[in-house]
Amino acid sequence: MNFHSMSADQLQATQQDLRKLYDELRSAGLSLDLTRGKPAPEQLDLSNGLLSLPGADDFRDAAGTDTRNYGGITGLPEIRAIFGELLGVDPANLIAAGNSSLELMHDLTTFGLLAGTPDSAQPWSAGPIKFLCPAPGYDRHFAITESYGIEMIPVPMLPNGPDVDACAALTARDPSIKGLWAVPTYSNPTGVTFSEDVTRALLEMPAADDFRIYWDNAYAVHTLVDAAPTPFPVIDWAAEAGNPNRVYVLGSTSKITFAGAGVAFFGSSAENIEWYTKRASVTTIGPDKVNQLRHARFFGDADGVRAHMARHREILAPKFRLVLDILDDRLADSKVAAWSQPEGGYFINLDVLDGAARRTIELAKEAGIALTGAGSAYPYKNDPLDRNIRLAPTFPATEDLRTAMDGVATCVLLAATETLSA
Ligand code: PLP
Repeated sequence: MNFHSMSADQLQATQQDLRKLYDELRSAGLSLDLTRGKPAPEQLDLSNGLLSLPGADDFRDAAGTDTRNYGGITGLPEIRAIFGELLGVDPANLIAAGNSSLELMHDLTTFGLLAGTPDSAQPWSAGPIKFLCPAPGYDRHFAITESYGIEMIPVPMLPNGPDVDACAALTARDPSIKGLWAVPTYSNPTGVTFSEDVTRALLEMPAADDFRIYWDNAYAVHTLVDAAPTPFPVIDWAAEAGNPNRVYVLGSTSKITFAGAGVAFFGSSAENIEWYTKRASVTTIGPDKVNQLRHARFFGDADGVRAHMARHREILAPKFRLVLDILDDRLADSKVAAWSQPEGGYFINLDVLDGAARRTIELAKEAGIALTGAGSAYPYKNDPLDRNIRLAPTFPATEDLRTAMDGVATCVLLAATETLSA
């Protein structure tokens, strides 16, 4: 029944029933975790072929480079060709780097802070600077900007991407805005995929010359439906818009092969690539090319990656279905929550009653179910409506996921009765 149309007595009776259910949940002594978007062990198993690649006598790439040795700061051409196609970037403008795209985003930020970009009159750190943060968004993006004292300005996340009018109004009048965090495909945590209109508007809007969009296409191929969207050629579009250096394309194989031993990518204009390479050469003599070679051997081509992602989908789609079914069964009638129906990515975004997220998460914690911390998807962990909860269904085994989600649903309902009767 709709909680909003209950009388005070009905609400109290419902709360008593839920309290009983919750006490049973608590006494079950659970220890379950729905916090981080990690691949499950069965997903990692899909890539075990990598463990015996490239093989005892296979260490040269197509150009004859000995991958065991130093050098090759831009990475192996073979792997750049495969992921160039998947990320919509000309391989000539794509670097294959170490195992973490987050590290690349961090370095791009610190290079900007310490040395400025090719379009900066001075290092970003010469004055106070700001980044636009579509929210809900990815907590680790916000951690980078927060850790360097960059002011974070939340902008609303809409069904087709960030609120571009809000972004443009801010960047047009404030040249100290130097960046925008973006997850264009199956966004973390909302599942939103940016439309062409939103994408073009972000690339075209007036902003400082050294304003950069961190186009973190972490989930470019991570689809739960038949095919992932074709990536937009954002580097070309930015150039056409007269802002050739505006966009940094990022991606990695972290949730394709091994989360801790994959390959990360950075794509941008020739000028930005040259700038980055010059700075990165100070930090490393070259990336792990043996790992890049084994990834190239393992996939063969971009279709090899797509086929591999279809196998991930077979594991993940039932888990997402399970969570959505439980949310539907347990929460739909009460009208105290709304949730995303993602077509890909790693998360389900749950919005509970305004003012009830923190309490829901606390109740779950006391019952042994770890949920991502309240407000995590917002800059400074400040969810102004205290309603957002990020659910990560990929890692737990199916039965654990069922138990955890059923428990979460009880916590959502109990917290809602508390909020409504307060
Ligand atoms: N970007 C987004 C949007 C993510 O959700 C994640 C992981 O959860 C990452 C980047 C991490 O990428 P990497 O493993 O390449 O550092």
